[in-house]
Amino acid sequence: MSATPSGAKPLRCPICGKEAAEAYRPFCSKRCADIDLARWFTGSYAIAGRDDDDGDNATPSENDKRSGDEDDGG
Ligand SMILES: [Zn+2]
Repeated sequence: MSATPSGAKPLRCPICGKEAAEAYRPFCSKRCADIDLARWFTGSYAIAGRDDDDGDNATPSENDKRSGDEDDGG
């Protein structure tokens, strides 16, 4: 049996399985923390905004000015 430090259970990074760092618990590093965050973040987004297609561009100018055609004639 190995002695446990401070009696605290050595957390395991849920991403890579390494020993979690105290600064990034329960992850081992910021990298893994970001990965986990992005995972549920992207999942949430997929549910929230899915039907909405990415194409919110403004409509092109309808009034098409024709050059060369003089309208003002008197
Ligand atoms: Zn990790």
